[in-house]
Amino acid sequence: MIQHDLRLERLGQLYDLYDAFMAKADLVCHKGCATCCTCNVTVTSLELDYIKVSLGSEKAGSLMERVGKNLAEKRFQPKTTINGFARLCMEGREVPEEENDPAWGRCPLLLNNACTIYPARPFGCRSLVSQEDCSRVGVATLSPLVLTVNNLFMQYIEQMDCNGISGNLSDMILADSSLSLSTGLVTISNQAARVLMVPPEHREQVAHLLSDMNRICNG
Ligand code: SF4
Repeated sequence: MIQHDLRLERLGQLYDLYDAFMAKADLVCHKGCATCCTCNVTVTSLELDYIKVSLGSEKAGSLMERVGKNLAEKRFQPKTTINGFARLCMEGREVPEEENDPAWGRCPLLLNNACTIYPARPFGCRSLVSQEDCSRVGVATLSPLVLTVNNLFMQYIEQMDCNGISGNLSDMILADSSLSLSTGLVTISNQAARVLMVPPEHREQVAHLLSDMNRICNG
């Protein structure tokens, strides 16, 4: 467990809590299946710190080089974060249209169908799960409750890093590096969670999870 920074320690605890919750879900995901490992995954700045601290400086350096050499020309570059999206909806304002296509390419951190940073992978990767084989049915299938839980964790993870930034995993790694290849990188500011995206029918079901999340983040 990462302990040198309280926020990183708490982030690790949130990951553990999510993994324990998802262990009870009926998922088909397994090692060697990397259908969802595309160049479109996003990360927060705190999560990038978690990856770097987990890997150590030498491995983190080679990760940056690998991303620099394999930067997908087209990749998902979010215009707003989950907390920004929730805020826009709450205020009745227009939500920006986002473009995202898995055909744009594979994740540069994927090697032989295995993730090279698996234990430290960001929440965007952890939450890419499915109850049916997505390589067969074409999309990931999730229960509405799991979608709510995914949104909640994303909101809390952004809240923990509300003075930080987010972006596409490759953009964030390159923006953080000293590599000269920095054209076209996009990062956006994180926001505080002003409203939680929990529909009324799930409030009771997530109450226990929410109290665990609050204990981790505020304890
Ligand atoms: S970081 Fe790892 S788990 Fe996430 S998309 Fe890339 S290879 Fe897959």
